[in-house]
Amino acid sequence: MTVDHRFDILLEPIRIGPVTARNRFYQVPHCNGMGYRDPTAVAHMRGVKAEGGWAVVCTEQVELHYSSEITPYIELRLWDDRDIPIVARMADKIHEHGALAGLELAYNGLNGPNFYSREVPMAPTALPVATFTYDPVQARSMNRQDIRNVRRWHRAAALRARRAGFDLVYVYAGHALGFLHHFISRRYNFRADEYGGSLENRTRLLREILIDTKEAIGDTCAVPCRLSMDELLGSEGLEKAEAEDVVGLLAEIPDLWDFCLAGWENDSRTSRFGEEGGHEPYLADLKHLTTKPVVGVGRYTSPDRMAAVIRKGLVDLIGCARPSISDPFLPRKVAEGRLEDIRECIGCNICVSGDFTMSPIRCTQNPTMGEEWRRGWHPEYIRPRESEKPVLIVGAGPAGLEAAQALGKRGYAVTLAEQGREPGGRVRRESRLPGLAAWSRVVEYRVGQLHQLPNVEVYFDSELDAAAVLEFGAPRVVLATGARWRSDGVGHCWTRPMPVAEGAEVLTPDDLMDGRMPGGQRVLVWDDDHYYMGGVLAELLAEKGFETVYATPASEASTWTRNTMEQFFIQTRLLEKGFRVETFRNLDRIAPGAATLACVHTGRTEILAVDAVVLVTSRAPADALAIELAAQRASWNDAGIESIEAIGDAYAPATIAHAVYAGRRYAEELDGPEDTGDSLPFRRELTELSDD
Ligand code: ADP
Ligand code: SF4
Repeated sequence: MTVDHRFDILLEPIRIGPVTARNRFYQVPHCNGMGYRDPTAVAHMRGVKAEGGWAVVCTEQVELHYSSEITPYIELRLWDDRDIPIVARMADKIHEHGALAGLELAYNGLNGPNFYSREVPMAPTALPVATFTYDPVQARSMNRQDIRNVRRWHRAAALRARRAGFDLVYVYAGHALGFLHHFISRRYNFRADEYGGSLENRTRLLREILIDTKEAIGDTCAVPCRLSMDELLGSEGLEKAEAEDVVGLLAEIPDLWDFCLAGWENDSRTSRFGEEGGHEPYLADLKHLTTKPVVGVGRYTSPDRMAAVIRKGLVDLIGCARPSISDPFLPRKVAEGRLEDIRECIGCNICVSGDFTMSPIRCTQNPTMGEEWRRGWHPEYIRPRESEKPVLIVGAGPAGLEAAQALGKRGYAVTLAEQGREPGGRVRRESRLPGLAAWSRVVEYRVGQLHQLPNVEVYFDSELDAAAVLEFGAPRVVLATGARWRSDGVGHCWTRPMPVAEGAEVLTPDDLMDGRMPGGQRVLVWDDDHYYMGGVLAELLAEKGFETVYATPASEASTWTRNTMEQFFIQTRLLEKGFRVETFRNLDRIAPGAATLACVHTGRTEILAVDAVVLVTSRAPADALAIELAAQRASWNDAGIESIEAIGDAYAPATIAHAVYAGRRYAEELDGPEDTGDSLPFRRELTELSDD
């Protein structure tokens, strides 16, 4: 076997203050929607990453004091000593697999509305809170005593973090998500004392807290500083040149610099709005300002690119949040030369939606994410088969592909039949839409795995009807036949088909993806789906030169993408491309050459002259085969069929992440205990009752 030395640079150890990282793979802090509610689940999730070879595995942000908390979001807490065992569990799980455990202390200040504690938030300057939801809360300006108090609280929390076993304890001045960022930024700091005005003054508190933390725990723990490199607001906020000056001023004080962009939506852009390595222009010129190790992110999934960015001298360690979610074993796969097994992040930010919806983290590529403890799933291992009974899977979309590869790894004999010429189903089709090319990785990873599994046979051009399924006679049949977009307008608004006059041209997303374009020039895209599809199709039509109006009953375009931090970018793009964006608009009726929009509040109507309407409303399961087979239930026995189950979109249409999860769930549960719904199919943690 030839040894590949291209990636040796990624595998070299590096010293971070008093501790040593075993390689250059660094899981930067990331949220997960589990936090204090599901601490054991988070601990196991982090443990799996350590097992996968990451040198440093960090927590999400950890609220260091009750006077700054970000309810309703669910993060970790270190408010007092009672929280220590909760975060300690995480450090223990990380240590079990030889990684360093990092903890990010956060005092959110302006970002914490304090809905739980009902304390008045504190900030450098009195301002309305800077949350995602325009909360009716204002922060007060910190006086010198407040500053002394917060320094003391930060120090106490750092000591607690050390007692909990952490090796790195962060001072967080990143993402515009904490008071230290707010002190540095001209956007938030209008103080006239020694903590405001000049950059040196605005940086004073960061310097003091870094020194406090180093004095408290620096003999045994590394103290990284997470700093925003740019707030992307021009001279209104923190700019790169100023960030460079901050690094210049504090160069050797932290043990490590972890650079990010502010706000979070700029730092963690989806692949639709940001390339791999998009941070590199900002990282340039920072490293030479300090001798301390530098971490930078950039949604890196290519080991070549990772090695190059270290060689170029931009960073010393590769910071990853999403690539480590998508593939917790990425470092081990690089070390073992198994590059083809890397499950590359597609940059969809479904993981982020867990945080925004306060539900356990999920990932489109890695269906085991967040399920490590509660369902006992593992991203790399799955228990061997428990019977010799073969499985027939109909449909090679994300659900069918995931079921096939996971069942294949369990050792079942699997036949996957696909009516089309290529695998991937909706993912293949959608990845051809503007900005979604990276989504094809969902297919590529799974097809790559199937190639390594001699017990899985894949047939294309194989449309199966009920007779064919019965004739095939596999004991287990999985119907992963997907869904089609509805052409009758049924969705959130219309719960029955909407009025469409004869002769009107109505298209669905499937029509456009199949290459059928509107006959005339003027097109209305009516988006009652509210995720990405309406906005993406509007972009597609613009690219093809159609005069397009985008209308939606919601208050903004693609409103659910707030949960993937894309909404702002989507609406900006639509407006910049010259679209008319009509919000709060129902679609009342469609006639040839005209669509009637109605205000959702007043019902007032407006007739729009359009040649065609694209209805983006909802999807109907492709369940014809399931219905046909159900009708022939009496023949199953003779055909040797024990079970027929629809999964993924064929069962109930949802996200791609959900289809992958459904495929995995089928594979995990096959030949396991029957799930009758009478007991929970997953573990959970309950709040401990107090004595009274
Ligand atoms: P999901 O998201 O649930 O995986 P998709 O719509 O992405 O669903 O994929 C469904 C796949 O099933 C498509 O590739 C489609 O061509 C295929 N398919 C649908 N019906 C049949 C059938 N009767 N026989 C074989 N393949 C089918
Ligand atoms: Fe990447 Fe999407 Fe998974 Fe997040 S959910 S890690 S963006 S593939």
